[in-house]
Amino acid sequence: MEHYKILRKGDRVKYMCIRCGRCCGTGPNVALTIYDICRIAKYMNVNWRDLRGKYIIAVIADMIPIPILRGLGDRCAFLDQNEELPTCIIYPVRPMRCKIYPFIPLSPSKEDEIALDTHCLGVGEGEEIEPPWNLIKEYYRELKQHYSMLYDLVFNKGYEPLEALEKALDDLCG
Ligand code: SF4
Ligand code: SF4
Repeated sequence: MEHYKILRKGDRVKYMCIRCGRCCGTGPNVALTIYDICRIAKYMNVNWRDLRGKYIIAVIADMIPIPILRGLGDRCAFLDQNEELPTCIIYPVRPMRCKIYPFIPLSPSKEDEIALDTHCLGVGEGEEIEPPWNLIKEYYRELKQHYSMLYDLVFNKGYEPLEALEKALDDLCG
């Protein structure tokens, strides 16, 4: 956490993405919600199941499935490095945590605080900005609904963790 700086409402920081692609080398650290996955599937015009394994994998913690971006070697599976600059092939619908980066959500119970990852090479560049508080609020809203659906399926309805994730995605993505 020593490269994280805590920011609160009203704090501003110089930041502009310089498209170095560094943050996209850590795809496996990016947790997704079912909302992220449905948006990506729709954008790519595929069924969410076509993303499974190739772009998105799931780990299980305390009976709750956690979908995450798949890493290919040292990069996220959605990163195209054949372009002049590293390019996210799903940029308009990239996961919420990617949209919010270099700001890192701390907890839904701390909506007025966020961590800044000073490892991002764009920190210190460009104009002073505020963290994207509206987007962060929307992320927490989706995150709470995501976990609420999965908890219900696993602990009230008796689904196995991965079956619960599949059921939630089938219900949401249609
Ligand atoms: S590390 Fe920072 S500057 Fe580099 S691509 Fe990611 S957000 Fe942009
Ligand atoms: S989804 Fe896109 S923005 Fe997010 S880590 Fe992968 S390549 Fe980068």
